[in-house]
Amino acid sequence: MSKQPTKQNKGNMTGLLLMVLAAIITIVIAFPVTDSIRKMIKDNIKYIAGTYSATEQGFGGKVKATVVVGDNGIESVLFDGPKETPDIGGAAILKINEQMKAAPDTEFDAVSGATVTSGGLKGALKKALLKARGKEVEEDIEVKSADIVVIGAGGAGMSAAIQAAQDGATNVVILEKMPITGGNTVRATGGLNASQTPYQKRDGIEDSNDLFYEDTMKGGKNLNDPELVRTLVENSAAAVDWVNDIGGDLSVVGQFGGASVKRIHRPSDTSAVGPMLVKTLNAKLDELGIPVLLETKATKIIADADGKIIGVEAEDEDGSFIINTKAVILATGGFGSNPDMVVKYAPQLSGFITTNHIGATGDGIEMALELGAGLTDIEQIQTHPTVNPDTATMYTEGVRGNGAILVNNDGNRFVNELETRDVVSAAILEQPNEESWLVFDTAVRESLSAIEKYINEGIIVEANTIEELAQKTGINKENLVATMNKYATMQSAGEDSNFGRKSMEVPLTKAPYFAGLAKPAIHHTMGGVKINTQTQVLKEDGSAIPGLFAAGEVVGGVHGGNRLGGNAVADIVVFGRISGDNANEYVLANGGNTERTITANDEDTNFVPQDIKTDLADGSYKGIAKGFGGDVDVTFTVKNGIVNDLTINGGKETAEIGGKAITKIKRNIQSTGEFKVDSVAGASITSKAVSDAINNATLQ
Ligand code: ADP
Repeated sequence: MSKQPTKQNKGNMTGLLLMVLAAIITIVIAFPVTDSIRKMIKDNIKYIAGTYSATEQGFGGKVKATVVVGDNGIESVLFDGPKETPDIGGAAILKINEQMKAAPDTEFDAVSGATVTSGGLKGALKKALLKARGKEVEEDIEVKSADIVVIGAGGAGMSAAIQAAQDGATNVVILEKMPITGGNTVRATGGLNASQTPYQKRDGIEDSNDLFYEDTMKGGKNLNDPELVRTLVENSAAAVDWVNDIGGDLSVVGQFGGASVKRIHRPSDTSAVGPMLVKTLNAKLDELGIPVLLETKATKIIADADGKIIGVEAEDEDGSFIINTKAVILATGGFGSNPDMVVKYAPQLSGFITTNHIGATGDGIEMALELGAGLTDIEQIQTHPTVNPDTATMYTEGVRGNGAILVNNDGNRFVNELETRDVVSAAILEQPNEESWLVFDTAVRESLSAIEKYINEGIIVEANTIEELAQKTGINKENLVATMNKYATMQSAGEDSNFGRKSMEVPLTKAPYFAGLAKPAIHHTMGGVKINTQTQVLKEDGSAIPGLFAAGEVVGGVHGGNRLGGNAVADIVVFGRISGDNANEYVLANGGNTERTITANDEDTNFVPQDIKTDLADGSYKGIAKGFGGDVDVTFTVKNGIVNDLTINGGKETAEIGGKAITKIKRNIQSTGEFKVDSVAGASITSKAVSDAINNATLQ
């Protein structure tokens, strides 16, 4: 039947309209549309709880609106427009965000002078609100193509991409959801465990792949997948050579927990391994011209009807897009920063803090599960025993190694402090308030430069006497004094008759004394996606998902029930490289290489951190300034005119704006090698706070 209205129908409709109009006029006269009625009308719209984003064209590029809906309606509205002119569109976004922070709304007034940006924001908000009502919203989906898509630019993903390119792959691209590369890898402090290396030989260390295998299986409580461990050890020496060949520095061999002999390979200046490795990998990616798409999150891996991988869905600040590809290497890291996932697989860890970077949310595991991947040892999560609960700062094991003891709030020791991580963590959780104090003296402080960083952060209590230390920390005074006296006696006798601690470096009698609150925190998620020795992702039934490879912390089975220090870095380089080799082979067997068409989305993508030079005297520096949501603090140390350990913390800044801005500012400083703070669009208050905090620090 035709839907064209007839004359008769039109007449009826006009009558109806008039009646409705009269009714509305009556209502309006009786009840003027007050703000509260308007609000009721808005609130009557049913939004579905969740987070919704949409983009629209602004002045300089796409602008984005993100709406968070809770059980009682809209909770927050946030805009982002990194490509808008900072002083015009950027300032407008900041202003509207401040209004929205004070009172989230579905409407706002355009900012005069920034009408184009304001219009874009309105359009984006409208789309996001439609999505929040469950409506389908058309967004143009761009389609790109590559031969190998690596998801995640941590140690595993970057090693994989480089290896594939070295094997001849011509069209590799890396997606990284954070504004910088490095993930948890950049936080690795120890080194890379490897056996039968020339460096061990040089130092007269007798090691073998078999011994490394046995140590790793024993450390992992024999839960590890023996074949994966065999692959790890047999390729470990080559991993050290490879890192050194591409410009890295792993030439000093040291002793670490759980290893029968000296096996951990570290940078020659004994600095932390993570920054060195990430700097080396970044530089190599740059040299090979492999594009890293930063702030680009993979959201789905696409398979065809036969289960063969054909693409990746991703989103960046311009919206969603698809990359058609032949192979995918999953290198998204672990899930230590995803409390829901942690509790799902290990309920006993509810409420634990984490040492992980915020991007460690297990996305790769979720994406692989959707494709039917199997999981291995997913419930195995390693905790680090001594982490400050307020700042999530990890006190390195060296503090205990160099002499510190652990006491509870009652002032008593309760464990051999040098036991393995899992034993010490479990012992702390049995103490009152599930916490402990790391107690040490000036001799320990002087033995370890890392302690200065903790003191600078303000997380260490200092006192001239043990009594004063007890008073300041609230630890039981009589017991603490007795514990310290007993420890000094045992130390001079050379035997810990209480807990059998083997090495008691110092008597802990040199004032002033120090204490830092310490709790266990989630450190490494050992379980993950199931793979074989070729890094192919396997389904529960053991069959491989064609075209899908995985390496690094996203994978389970390598570390079993407990990871040894030095084995994570070995894992990411060894299996990262194997995944690169195999993805390349797979591409050659499935259509071959093509020319690269994707370019990096950021001119600063493959940034190589430069040494930040300064004429400040050697020492530790800290500066604080007021930011948008609270204090922003900057800490660093200076040695021989070079700035080390630069941290910029803005714990209370809005994660999406101030948080991202801080990461960008730090990256700029590291890439220019100068303490120069350029204001980040949309986050001028945070940017100024960082600049002020640096000035305050350098004025010291
Ligand atoms: P690994 O040690 O296994 O290399 P890392 O934690 O060092 O693990 O690196 C994993 C990287 O993957 C991190 O930089 C993280 O931000 C990134 N990542 C995680 N999920 C995604 C995702 N969905 N899309 C893109 N990158 C991701």
